[in-house]
Amino acid sequence: MTYTAPLADMRFALREVAGLQQISALPGYEHATDDTVDAVLEEAAKLAGNGLAPLNRDGDKVGAKLENGVVRTAPGFAGIYKEFVEGGWNSLPFDPEFGGQGMPWLLAATVQEMWQAANMGFGLVLLLNQGAIDAIHHHGSADQKSTFLPRMISGEWTGTMNLTEPQAGSDLAQLKSRAVKNGDHYLVTGQKIFITYGEHDMAENIVHLVLARTPDAPAGVRGISLFIVPKFLVGADGKLAARNDLRCVSLEHKLGIHASPTCVMSFGDDGGAVGYLVGEEGRGLSYMFTMMNNARLSVGIQGLAIAERAYQQAAAFAKQRVQSKDDGSDKAQPVSIVHHADVRRMLMTMRAQIEAMRALGYYTAAGIDGALKHPDRGAAKKIQDRVDLLIPIVKAWFTDLGNEIASTGVQIHGGMGFIEETGAAQHLRDARILPIYEGTNGIQARDLVGRKVAKDGGETMLALVAEMRSTAEELKAAPGDDLAAIRTALEAAADALEDATKWVAQSVKADLVAALAGSVPFLRLAGTALGGWLLARSALAAQAKLAGRDGDPDFLEAKVVTARFYAEVILPPALAQLGPLKAAGRTVFALSEAQL
Ligand SMILES: Cc1cc2nc3c(=O)[nH]c(=O)nc-3n(C[C@H](O)[C@H](O)[C@H](O)COP(=O)(O)OP(=O)(O)OC[C@H]3O[C@@H](n4cnc5c(N)ncnc54)[C@H](O)[C@@H]3O)c2cc1C
Repeated sequence: MTYTAPLADMRFALREVAGLQQISALPGYEHATDDTVDAVLEEAAKLAGNGLAPLNRDGDKVGAKLENGVVRTAPGFAGIYKEFVEGGWNSLPFDPEFGGQGMPWLLAATVQEMWQAANMGFGLVLLLNQGAIDAIHHHGSADQKSTFLPRMISGEWTGTMNLTEPQAGSDLAQLKSRAVKNGDHYLVTGQKIFITYGEHDMAENIVHLVLARTPDAPAGVRGISLFIVPKFLVGADGKLAARNDLRCVSLEHKLGIHASPTCVMSFGDDGGAVGYLVGEEGRGLSYMFTMMNNARLSVGIQGLAIAERAYQQAAAFAKQRVQSKDDGSDKAQPVSIVHHADVRRMLMTMRAQIEAMRALGYYTAAGIDGALKHPDRGAAKKIQDRVDLLIPIVKAWFTDLGNEIASTGVQIHGGMGFIEETGAAQHLRDARILPIYEGTNGIQARDLVGRKVAKDGGETMLALVAEMRSTAEELKAAPGDDLAAIRTALEAAADALEDATKWVAQSVKADLVAALAGSVPFLRLAGTALGGWLLARSALAAQAKLAGRDGDPDFLEAKVVTARFYAEVILPPALAQLGPLKAAGRTVFALSEAQL
């Protein structure tokens, strides 16, 4: 169960698809030179492969434990977390004013892929902290920023996200936790469930971001406010002071990510936990969305990461497991299963989908950088709209694929895949949470259709379709069968996505239920088509490099062939989602509740 960061693939996606060069040319990112980016990737790959990956198995087997109110993380976790803090890994994309390194989010997403692939149970603490930092950075007061950000950015303190309550999951309008004003702070009471790293022994303080209602707040989401509720209060001198009135009551027993403590948190058992209002009362959910956008991209990256991990393991297994003769040879001896056409089909499917996800994930992360730093604010706004559109696709499509690919990984192992010792099963169990948390994938599809496409009548998506068509034009001039096949598929994908987008934009106004019934097939179609587009760009770049004898020909040819496989094998069935997405609304409610 080893993990080796696929550095060549990552570099290629960064440079040839996501446009690292353009990102490092933006004001504020000049220090993200090629050499610096390479050095960061090399060091991260070592830490992920040699430090984190070996702890993944024990993380699963031993997991996190609650003992006398203290959560003990799995063996080795506290030690390696210290290395993260000392190495400054938490601080990569954050504001230098608060101790960050001010590197592009594009680089942070690439490194994030390594942490999550190496050890998802561990990677979650980094992911939540990153989101919490982002929310405080955007919406906190100057005082809150100076008190909390430097230590969270260094990683000495970690952040959490406390939204969910037993009666309020997808529907946060139902949340009941209360916050009552008490001088310069609030007293927070209530119970939160499923809080990732709500308590642990790796950092000296935990900064909880908690959604709660003030006493006179209106019902619904407009009555929700956001509070910073630290585990230990912080004195005026910046030193840790009294323990706050909050505790982890229990840990959930789960299907996967055993190393990540999923806590039931109780706030205010002794009268009220001290909390500090972020921004204005009643705006909590909109502030939390800042954090959720960031966290949703990261969860999408988790889907990519677990898929890469499962692929590496399956490919290694397929090369050493000997079974059955080679169908393409007269020799009677059994060969390793990597020689069989169906095993190749499974590996190619995994690989092509991983490359498509990586391309779209990094492209989206580069968009975050463009939106932040582009000197033309009009252009920046357009880039932000595109990021907002892509986030639910990245979250849901990647995490669905993460599950499918982890399951294919088990299949390639045959019976051994079902046996825990091989480790293939852990990836599948770990992957299963991804379509559920950070807003279920059904909620992502609802967001895509009901908010993102509805907001501009599909304009942002149709702008992407236009870009797909101009890539298809470029492919016309390119030589060879492979690129011609890719062009044909890309044109079909652009047609299907355009048709689907126009249908969704119109239906969302005319028949909301029909549009929502088709929302998941729409998201799948969009993800697969956009992934195909970026793989076509990747094939064009590889072809140009091959022609210019610039780089390893084997590696570059593999890029072209993988993109062709995707275009001919993966894209067509996904484009057939066009029918189901239009049809679903006709029959989803045809049976009565009693008949279900
Ligand atoms: C391991 C783990 C870690 C987690 N970490 C955190 C954390 O750190 N912080 C935190 O606050 N929460 C956390 N969560 C909670 C998680 O975000 C929620 O479980 C998730 O948002 C879904 O809410 P729910 O479980 O109440 O499901 P429900 O909301 O009850 O949904 C059940 C089903 O109904 C569907 N559904 C609901 N409403 C709609 C609708 N309007 N349209 C279509 N379909 C709908 C859903 O898609 C789902 O399939 C975690 C959960 C787990 C299991």
